[in-house]
Amino acid sequence: MREKQTYNVIWFRNNLRVFDNYSIEKACKENHPILAVYCFDPRHFETTKFGFKKTEKYKAQFLIETVQNLQKNLKDKLNISLLIFNDYPESVFPKLSEKYHFQQLFLQKEWTQEEAEVQKNVHYHLPEVEFIETYDQFLFHPEDIPYESFQNIPEVYTQFRKKAEYHVNVRPPANLPQPQPEEYLVEHTTQVPKLKDLGLEEVEKDSRSAFPFHGGEEEADRRIQHYFWDTCKLQHYKETRNGLLGPDYSSKLSAWLANGSISARKIYWEVKKFEKQVVKNDSTYWLIFELIWRDYFKYISLKHGNKIFQLGGILKKDLDWNQDEETLQNWINGETEEPFVNANMKEIATTGFMSNRGRQNINSFWAKELKQDWRIGAAYLESMLIDYDVHSNWGNWMYNSGVGNDPRDRKFNIQSQAKRYDPDQKYQQTWLGGQKELF
Ligand code: FAD
Repeated sequence: MREKQTYNVIWFRNNLRVFDNYSIEKACKENHPILAVYCFDPRHFETTKFGFKKTEKYKAQFLIETVQNLQKNLKDKLNISLLIFNDYPESVFPKLSEKYHFQQLFLQKEWTQEEAEVQKNVHYHLPEVEFIETYDQFLFHPEDIPYESFQNIPEVYTQFRKKAEYHVNVRPPANLPQPQPEEYLVEHTTQVPKLKDLGLEEVEKDSRSAFPFHGGEEEADRRIQHYFWDTCKLQHYKETRNGLLGPDYSSKLSAWLANGSISARKIYWEVKKFEKQVVKNDSTYWLIFELIWRDYFKYISLKHGNKIFQLGGILKKDLDWNQDEETLQNWINGETEEPFVNANMKEIATTGFMSNRGRQNINSFWAKELKQDWRIGAAYLESMLIDYDVHSNWGNWMYNSGVGNDPRDRKFNIQSQAKRYDPDQKYQQTWLGGQKELF
C-alpha cells in the first residue's frame, strides 16, 4: 500500500504576509510539505449585540485584496498553496485534514476571547495535530520585555515605554525561506469571496477620502516607498500627524498593520534605515513612539483579558451610562450640535477611515459629553474602521472614556479642538459643505 502523504498547515489569521512571518519561517524549517489556509469566518460578518455588522464593507474589501495578494505571494515566492474558504474554521479544518493528514499546524498567537475560542474548537476537532503558536504582531517581543508576567505591565504608558525602550532590542525580521519543491503545490479551486458573498455592499470611492487604501503586502511596501523614500514625509511626521485632510499627514500604515500584511518590526527597521540614510530626528522617533502605543494596548489586553470589553473597563468604574437610540443615530449620521464631530462621523461613514485626532474627539464627545455607553461607540468603530484592531480600538476607547489607561482622565473641549486643528474649517467644509464627487 502507498504511504499517505502528510502535510503541515499554516493557518493565516491576522498575519497576512510572506515577509517577516515567524509561522512561515518555522513551518519551512520542518522540511515537510506545507499548505496554507485562510477562512473568511461568517461570524466576522454577522450583526453583533450592538446592532452593527462586526465587519463592514471597508475592512472586508481591504481584506479581500489582502488575501488575494497573499495567495499570489505564497505561490510565487514559496510554492505554497493558499486554500481560501468562506466558512467556519472548525468546519473547514477537519475536512481538509481527512484529505491532507495534517501533522503540525502553525499560527500566530491570538488571546482575545473570540479568537481563542475558535482556535480551541479547531483544536478539539484535530486532537492529533500539534499546534505551534507564535506571538508575531508585536514590535517588542513578549519574551524580551522586562516584566516577568503580563500582570506586571504598568498602567501608565510612559512607564512601560521608557523601560521597554531601555531594555528591549527589536528582533530582526524573520527570513524569507527557500521555496518548497513545486510538486508540493496542491490542486484546488478555492477562491476569494466577493463582498456580496459576505452579505456586504460594494464600496463607492469618494474623492474626499484621506487615503485610497488598497489591501495586500505589496501595497504596504508601496506606501512605505512613498511615505519614507519618494517624498521623505516621514521626516516631518511629528509636525503633521495631527492633520485631518489628505494622504500624507500620517503614515496610514494602520490598515496593513491591523491584518498583519506588514509587521511592526519591518516598519521599525525601515525607520532605522531612513535615519541612517536620510535624517534622524524627532519625527522618525515619533513613528516608533506610536508603534509602541500599539504594542502597549496589546499588552494591556494580555494583562486584563475581557475587562477591555466591559462597561467598567480595566478600572472597573461604576459610572452612569445611557443607551439612547436617537442620540446614537444622530452621532452616527453626523447630526449632533458639534460640526467637528459631525464632519468626522461623515468621514468614517463614507470612507472607513478617520484621523487619530478625529477618533479622540468623537470618542470623548460620545462617552464624556453625551455620557453614552462607550462600548456602543467602540462597536460602531469596530464595524466601520478599515484598520480595526481589537486591542487598539478597545484600548483607545477605554482610554478616552475614562475607564482605561489615561491617568489624567481628560475630556476634550470639542470647539477648541476644532479651532486648533481645523482653524480655517477646511476639514469641516469638506465633509459638511460640498457635494460629494465620485471617481
Ligand atoms: P500614524 O500616526 O502614522 O501612526 C503610525 C502607527 O502607530 C499607526 O499605524 C498605528 O499602528 C500606531 N498608532 C498610532 N496611534 C496609535 C494609538 N493611539 N493607539 C495604538 N496605536 C497607534 N488604531 C488602529 O490601528 N486600529 C483601531 O481599531 C484603532 N481604533 C482607535 C479608536 C480610537 C477611539 C482612537 C482614539 C484611536 C484608535 N486607533 C486605532 C489609533 C490611531 O487612531 C490609528 O492607529 C491611526 O489614526 C492610524 O493612522 P496612521 O496609520 O496614519 O497612524
